[in-house]
Amino acid sequence: MRIVPIGFNPLKTTMQKTSFQEKPILPTLKCDTVSFGATANQAKKVIILLGAPNSGKGTYGRKIAEKYAIPQISTGDILRGEVKKMSKLGIEAKRYMESGGLVPDELIMKIFQQRILEKDCQRGFILDGFPRTINQAEQLDEILKKDKNIALKIINLDVDRDILFARSANRYICADCSKTHAVKEGYNPETSKCDCGGKLIKRADDTPEVLASRLDSYEKQTLPLVDYYGEQVSNVGVYGKDSPVDEILGRINKILEK
Ligand code: AMP
Repeated sequence: MRIVPIGFNPLKTTMQKTSFQEKPILPTLKCDTVSFGATANQAKKVIILLGAPNSGKGTYGRKIAEKYAIPQISTGDILRGEVKKMSKLGIEAKRYMESGGLVPDELIMKIFQQRILEKDCQRGFILDGFPRTINQAEQLDEILKKDKNIALKIINLDVDRDILFARSANRYICADCSKTHAVKEGYNPETSKCDCGGKLIKRADDTPEVLASRLDSYEKQTLPLVDYYGEQVSNVGVYGKDSPVDEILGRINKILEK
């Protein structure tokens, strides 16, 4: 099942029967031809951020969430919260997370379905780290299909592997709000605090060994989503050397405002 992106021609697709019965075009999803920001007073904004671990999904997800006043749904943050609470789900998820593997789709779908029922998701949401498998993407399609009025954008953060490792070495997160902090030379994570006052900690899976394994899972299970979504995806590449956050954000905003 394929979700129709902003920019398609609804006249061409309404109730159209295609020869690809398994992937019909969805007549229920409304397309907005004007800017994403202005459009869609009524349409529910759904932004999918694809990309490898450390590609910046969390950082840019937060900034986009602020701009459009819609929540960022990070399945990784939800799982870390469950691990911290030592809930049944957290205990089960922990072993997958620590090894760099993916948590089973069934658990992830439960988390996601529960989260989008919350009131703050009524105007839309940003998906950071979900979907991560074709199976999750297919189930997401089924869920979105039920909504009559969706404005969908899919952004792929395509970042060179060396840059991903360099970012990992430099990265701490806030123990309270999960915000990511790039720790510069001379900056002391022991004494520095997050803006919310929380302590800065290293993520348990932020070691070169676990990152290598996470990248392996990413390449096998998540990268195929770029092909799955095909031309609906807008690519934001960071190649050669890292780019400043504001520069990358500018490129993302241009895509969202198109
Ligand atoms: P993240 O914070 O998005 O990098 O996620 C941290 C870890 O949580 C991942 O390495 C996976 O083990 C797990 N995880 C998060 N989201 C998903 C997902 N959509 N599917 C499977 N596992 C996930």
